[in-house]
Amino acid sequence: MAESLERLLTDLGERSTYDAASQCSRCGYCEQACPTYVATGDESKSPRGRNQIVRLMLEGKLDDKAAAMEALSTCLTCGACTAACYAKVPVVDIVLEGRRMLRGETHWLVKKVCRIMVTSPGVFAVLLKIGFFFKKIGLSALARPALRAAGLPVLASMDEHTDESPLRSLDDVMASRQDPDSPSYRYFAACGPRYLYPRVGAATIYALDKLKGPGAYLGNPCCGLLAHNYGDLSDARELARKNIEHAESRGTEAIVGDCSSCVAFLKSYPQLFLKAEDAPWRARAEAFSKRVRDAIEIYGECADQLPAGVAAGVETTYHDSCRALNPQGLKEQPRRAAKKAAGASFCEMAGADACCGGAGAFGFVHEDLSDDLLKKKVGSAAAVQAGLVLTSSTSCLIQLARGLRKYYPDAKVLHLSEFVAGALQKNHGA
Ligand code: SF4
Ligand code: SF4
Repeated sequence: MAESLERLLTDLGERSTYDAASQCSRCGYCEQACPTYVATGDESKSPRGRNQIVRLMLEGKLDDKAAAMEALSTCLTCGACTAACYAKVPVVDIVLEGRRMLRGETHWLVKKVCRIMVTSPGVFAVLLKIGFFFKKIGLSALARPALRAAGLPVLASMDEHTDESPLRSLDDVMASRQDPDSPSYRYFAACGPRYLYPRVGAATIYALDKLKGPGAYLGNPCCGLLAHNYGDLSDARELARKNIEHAESRGTEAIVGDCSSCVAFLKSYPQLFLKAEDAPWRARAEAFSKRVRDAIEIYGECADQLPAGVAAGVETTYHDSCRALNPQGLKEQPRRAAKKAAGASFCEMAGADACCGGAGAFGFVHEDLSDDLLKKKVGSAAAVQAGLVLTSSTSCLIQLARGLRKYYPDAKVLHLSEFVAGALQKNHGA
């Protein structure tokens, strides 16, 4: 059995996983906020059902492990339930604990990837470049049937769902950058903008430099979210400790990231260090997480500095990344920036706050359910005749790009950073 956290941070303070799950009064108030319950009508795929399953597991009363795994693995970890819940029951953390208890040994490939991220990030970057090169010349598509036959369907789906294959990472793009002696912020490179969407990372740095003054490239290790959600907690903790040490050694400035999933995870680092022997790390994690900001928070704060309506002309809408909206509460901030730069072209779509079905590896593992949610999202964008959909996390960028290509090719998706940077560039003529 994989290691569990055992204790969680809740609105009522630190609790055991069992006590956290028991905070659920089964009122059902959150049910209509849960995308998987709304899509399936299945109580076991609701927040209340999932809390109950984990409770039964902890009481040793769970008979059907396969059904429990199906219920827990189909959770999008979007956090919409907790946002709707009066008691703020931490359903995502409870579900992740349940998955760890059921999973047994972590898949060897996930384990390998996490270890490479911990010990040899340079090797990880080279392996990705080789993969992207094969994709560029069409070889990865030919390898998909072999990957499926080898029991690695997730890798085949990942390849199918993404059309990006940059041969230069953000590290390469930023190699010649001269950081100032007193930076106004430190840019945290999450793996998405770093390897898959370096154009997003470059846009974020451009926009933040213009809005806050020149910042520095942190050159950080991976945040550990992959290990936390799919691999081993020991790897996640090791990466968290490396990040904390790395950031402490660089200064005390704000740490700004532009993948909302990773940023939300960085803000949750203290939960990794609740054991008594980890008390010194908990204090350091708390200090670290207080420094962490999502780039979209800053765009909202600096909306007055953005040129008004310069990006007008294309109907522009905004899709909330679940990890920006629910754990971080970032709803108004990104809209303030998008509305200022888009002017009259900004239009709100119905269900902007509903999960698009990306959710990390969810889109690759539960393709049918993910596609149902995606169709709904793309339909909402089409209903307001959007030509541009803005968002803030890597998983949403991948999923929306795929959905728009497939169901509504009149529109494209951009990270809010790209939109803000474009508006600033037009204004500065740079
Ligand atoms: S998670 Fe909260 S809102 Fe949902 S059933 Fe439990 S107590 Fe009610
Ligand atoms: S995290 Fe999202 S999918 Fe999971 S139970 Fe909560 S609302 Fe439903």
